[in-house]
Amino acid sequence: MSKGLPKRSEDYSLWYNELVKRADLAENSPVRGCMVIKPYGYSIWEKMQAQLDKMFKETGHSNAYFPLFIPKSYLSKEASHVEGFAKECAVVTHYRLKNSEDGKSVVVDPEAKLEEELIVRPTSETVIWSTYKNWIQSYRDLPLLVNQWANVVRWEMRTRLFLRTAEFLWQEGHTAHATKAEAMEETVKMMQVYAEFAEKYMALPVVRGVKSENERFAGAEDTYCIEAMMQDGKALQAGTSHFLGQNFAKAFDVKFATKEGGLEYVWGTSWGVSTRLMGALIMAHSDDNGLVLPPKLAPIQVVIIPIHKGDVELDRISEKAHEIMGKLREKGISVHFDHRDTHKPGWKFAEYELKGVPLRIAMGPRDLENNTVELARRDTLTKESVALGEVDIATYIADLLDEIQTSIYNKALNFREEMTTEANTWEEFQELLETKGGFISAHWDGTSETEEKIKELSKATIRCIPIDQKAEDGKCILSGNPSNGRVLFARAY
Ligand code: AMP
Repeated sequence: MSKGLPKRSEDYSLWYNELVKRADLAENSPVRGCMVIKPYGYSIWEKMQAQLDKMFKETGHSNAYFPLFIPKSYLSKEASHVEGFAKECAVVTHYRLKNSEDGKSVVVDPEAKLEEELIVRPTSETVIWSTYKNWIQSYRDLPLLVNQWANVVRWEMRTRLFLRTAEFLWQEGHTAHATKAEAMEETVKMMQVYAEFAEKYMALPVVRGVKSENERFAGAEDTYCIEAMMQDGKALQAGTSHFLGQNFAKAFDVKFATKEGGLEYVWGTSWGVSTRLMGALIMAHSDDNGLVLPPKLAPIQVVIIPIHKGDVELDRISEKAHEIMGKLREKGISVHFDHRDTHKPGWKFAEYELKGVPLRIAMGPRDLENNTVELARRDTLTKESVALGEVDIATYIADLLDEIQTSIYNKALNFREEMTTEANTWEEFQELLETKGGFISAHWDGTSETEEKIKELSKATIRCIPIDQKAEDGKCILSGNPSNGRVLFARAY
């Protein structure tokens, strides 16, 4: 086993990068900003996908697939949308290569120039609304509730594995509705679905809120979001849900015949979460020994490691291990028996700690004699001896996995509460940012200019206006102008 991870307290950023690589989650690719997601990392993403997909279907959505390429002219049909995405678009101009004159390499064939350039989708509103024009004629065709699992490309300048990559995997929901109220309801509903997923499955407490105008999605009238707090006191936008008004319907001329016989533009929403959630999961819970995975998303929930000398002992331990595995699997618990003789038990302990497996069972000759196992929790790093004759091991472990899930969530919640502070003056605000970080709840005058200025001066942005924020009269921390409620500021990823 290689030497330990860098410490979070010494270099959080290095700790994160090293952890992602050493826990076999992902690595950089030859193309800057793009990542290779390794099998272990992908298996966690698959668990996330499976749960989210289930939740989307339970709320009435169906999956579909739209093309990777978007004609350039489509993007410019919605003015603020193109303005927001133009700066980070990958553009396809040619469709063929040919041998160079010296025959030593290949070059772009100038004769194979596309008549209309294609954009690699940064998001699919345009291609989807151009399709919806053909799918929607009457109120009977609504609502249209579609989701797509796909990859998108945004040419990001400063990238970091999972958190911000040039190509990322995500899902994008695109819905169409007959009324403004229904589209608004859908926007909020999907934000709540994301929040429920983050809290129940990722054990990640999130603030539900609305973005300020500056931070809004390009082309949306309102952006709802979930915001999470990382262990270094920086915030992370973990998911967004946009109320699109009739913007894309107007851009692509999507109208429907109403029940009353009129003709109206359709109302829209879009919502997405990406592989950034992997980054959130890692950053929120893990420690200096490696990953800490909430049991509900851990690809392996329990690992059994034999401690033995020779094959006879291993056979006896294996027999017991298989008995336990059978019981655990009956309860739907995923369990792996690592009986490789190529690695020592101590190496395996460290490896599964690094990989965040929630529970480890160790079984040695003395355990066989006493009919016990040693059970170790990854989150608290505590150990106990469990007498197999006294408990139903599967029930015991199922309960313990639930307890771990709750305990990881509570720990993150306590941390977030500790890291949320009110500031009432500009000095207090700056001091908090420099010494503590976290979310800072403060008054703001509601203008884009002040928000811009605060960002310039402090590098902190308005993460959101929490939806449960109470009205409260106060003065903007920067301009001193009146404000009627606090918003959450933070430095963010
Ligand atoms: P948006 O379409 O900008 O609202 O983003 C949808 C989701 O993708 C949000 O949850 C973002 O946090 C996430 N996201 C945006 N840009 C990136 C990126 N470069 N890498 C990974 N995730 C991203």
